[in-house]
Amino acid sequence: MTTPGTNFIGVNISGPHARAALVDSEGRILERRDADITPENFVPQLAELAAQLRKLHGNVAAFGLAIPGLVNRKADRVVAARDLPSNLVEDLHGQLTRAIGLRVEIENDANAEAYGEFKAGAGVGSRNLFYMMIGNGIGGAIILDGKLWTGASGFAGEVGHITIDTEGLECVCGNTGCLETVASAPSIVRRARERLHRDSTSSLSRLGLNKNFTADDVAHAANEGDDFALMMIERTGKYIGTGVATVINLLNIERIVLGGGVMDAGALILNPIIQEVKRRAFLRCFEATEIVAAKLGPDAAPIGVALLARDTAV
Ligand SMILES: [Zn+2]
Repeated sequence: MTTPGTNFIGVNISGPHARAALVDSEGRILERRDADITPENFVPQLAELAAQLRKLHGNVAAFGLAIPGLVNRKADRVVAARDLPSNLVEDLHGQLTRAIGLRVEIENDANAEAYGEFKAGAGVGSRNLFYMMIGNGIGGAIILDGKLWTGASGFAGEVGHITIDTEGLECVCGNTGCLETVASAPSIVRRARERLHRDSTSSLSRLGLNKNFTADDVAHAANEGDDFALMMIERTGKYIGTGVATVINLLNIERIVLGGGVMDAGALILNPIIQEVKRRAFLRCFEATEIVAAKLGPDAAPIGVALLARDTAV
């Protein structure tokens, strides 16, 4: 247990952007800092962020870092992180510990978000949950009996790489037809483009007017009542729901929390997800599961990784 008044720092890395938060022992945010970060100066920049936050509230016990990548936290080892140079990945934990002077925990971003939502967001009140992060990629995390369950070597919950379409496109993981190839933000854009190209009636959609549209634009057009965009969001919901049904059948889990940028479409995507889960999951499992949207947005990962650092404190 930590003493009252002890605080923790959590930082999430997303592309070139770092979001840092100083949180108290209950997971409440006391301060936030956002910074651009470069791979060349990664460690000194993070140390500087930590120093700024420690100046504001001195009593900081640990530092947590969430990254998009594979992390074996038991061994304090980053196994793969696409955005970081390989010499940094080798000994990131050691370098950060030396530069910051605090105990350091590194965790995968989906696991960190899951833990943040579990402790301070849409998971509060549950003991068992599955978290799915649907954004530029699709990640997932499992919390069982109040603890993050990371699997034999730290990589449990990779729901983005379950097969949805055996004839589908090749995925970054080497498999074909993964959930990520049809329901991540870039794949929504790709499917929308293909459809606009093929079908002359759908070119009446306002999306056809903007060649560089993003998944956010699809959600925005759907919110404004654009039929084509609505159909694309609904289709995406069906794919996600198919994945969620698999998770529910496997785990008979109490709560599913859905986060990430694609969920910004709100009820327009949540409702088709729930309908598809109902259609596909074993009914008794479906009835025992609450499916809800995440609550903490971009604060979930910094809060979660700060609390993971708290909970591994001796
Ligand atoms: Zn894959």
